[in-house]
Amino acid sequence: QTPQTTFNRVLLKISGEALMGDQGYGLHPPTVERIAREVKTVHDMGVEICMVIGGGNIFRGLAGSAQGMERTTADYMGMLATVMNALAMQSALEGLGVFTRVISAIRMDEVAEPYIRRRAVRHLEKKRVCIFAAGTGNPYFTTDTAATLRANEMACEAIFKGTKVDGVYDKDPVKHDNAKRFDTVTYDEVLAQHLNVMDASAIALARDNSLPIIVFSLDEPGGFKGILAGEGTYTKVHG
Ligand code: UDP
Repeated sequence: QTPQTTFNRVLLKISGEALMGDQGYGLHPPTVERIAREVKTVHDMGVEICMVIGGGNIFRGLAGSAQGMERTTADYMGMLATVMNALAMQSALEGLGVFTRVISAIRMDEVAEPYIRRRAVRHLEKKRVCIFAAGTGNPYFTTDTAATLRANEMACEAIFKGTKVDGVYDKDPVKHDNAKRFDTVTYDEVLAQHLNVMDASAIALARDNSLPIIVFSLDEPGGFKGILAGEGTYTKVHG
């Protein structure tokens, strides 16, 4: 029996690193397919889904600039990396019979649709999964900010940030046995305590638009569907 959810339209944000599996770099197609299956189960519940995928498994602008590359050029390379990840996810989802569109903030018409807000909304209404690629299209931003921006533009009810752990902790739970998970935390607490959720500009943009961020584990099979149905453990970042 399909579980029920109160959500109609959500945005799933995952880092590029979520797609690399146990490899130290790049794309691991079986891992991409596993996440695509998680997305499909939520799509099957009738939820309209936006996705933003990072690019850190391939290239990060800051890393490039630390090695002497011009920062904005390095950032454009990072944005291009997100397009590769988006295409991999598109391929996996369509392989499962889920219709998708890759929508790029940087024009590359042979590869992906340009971002036109009203057109993207129409895709969602037609139950196509919209994968937003190339971040915001601007250097000095991250895909977390892109996720918050698109979630606001698409009128998503929440951002679901899939990570390796089941929520936001006061310290790194992988390194500290006594790390404490928050059930809920406010945007201001995240900012003041430098909690590892999203970067500050993304948190501020979510706060200013009262967009909840739900941090959950994507490593749990069925986790995304469960969280949408209100099951499992997660942290809700709110006002
Ligand atoms: N990036 C950017 N503008 C954006 C989004 C991303 O310049 O709006 C670049 C930036 O260099 C970043 C890289 O793309 O390091 C990959 O994105 P991100 O680091 O957010 O990926 P994640 O950590 O989620 O895998």
